[in-house]
Amino acid sequence: MSLRIVLLGPPGAGKGTHAKILSERHSIPHISTGDLLRSQIQKGTALGKRAKSFIDSGKLVPDELVVEMVSERLQSDDVRNGFILDGFPRTVEQAESLEAFLKQARKPLDFALEFGTSERVVIDRLSGRRACPNCGANYHIRNIPPKREGICDVCGSSLVQRKDDTPETIRKRLEVYQKQTAPLIEFYGTRNLLKVVNGDLEIEPLQAELARELQVR
Ligand code: AMP
Repeated sequence: MSLRIVLLGPPGAGKGTHAKILSERHSIPHISTGDLLRSQIQKGTALGKRAKSFIDSGKLVPDELVVEMVSERLQSDDVRNGFILDGFPRTVEQAESLEAFLKQARKPLDFALEFGTSERVVIDRLSGRRACPNCGANYHIRNIPPKREGICDVCGSSLVQRKDDTPETIRKRLEVYQKQTAPLIEFYGTRNLLKVVNGDLEIEPLQAELARELQVR
């Protein structure tokens, strides 16, 4: 069965962690615009060069760059049976572009899942997050520790703290979320496409809540 969803919620809500699990369970791609942009930066592409300063300072990359990147990704073969969009859309303009794109493809969104999360939890998760610069796996020093401290379980690379996971940039990203992304909750609410889950929950109880939401769609 196909499944086309977007995940909404502040940075640190657990969207990436849960998107990876759902992606495997439903055999549909997890499309994270943050991961796509970081990979462009690592490869040194023109898009990566333009995006880097926005990302490092916690601001949003301009809509037209992100919309083009996502439209291309959504035309790949592996998106036939659906997708989990993580970190996109992040502005009303992006949501409108996505809506128009999916309408033309006659593949409307099933729903938007909002991870309702408190600021205290988000700050704790982001400041304790460690990421693998090689394969993109994420850890948390307390909640999801790697088997060997500082080393990626998947590929053995040394873990790093993302440049945008420092206290000042975290504050900026949360401010940007409230201002530019939170209006999407109303955008999808008025279209009767919004489902809300409790993003403060630990991984397993939240997976159980997600499984229930996905069953009753
Ligand atoms: P994330 O990994 O989702 O936290 O994204 C990291 C950073 O990438 C964000 O703080 C933005 O600078 C940029 N980014 C990711 N997705 C988008 C998007 N949909 N629109 C604009 N900027 C984005």
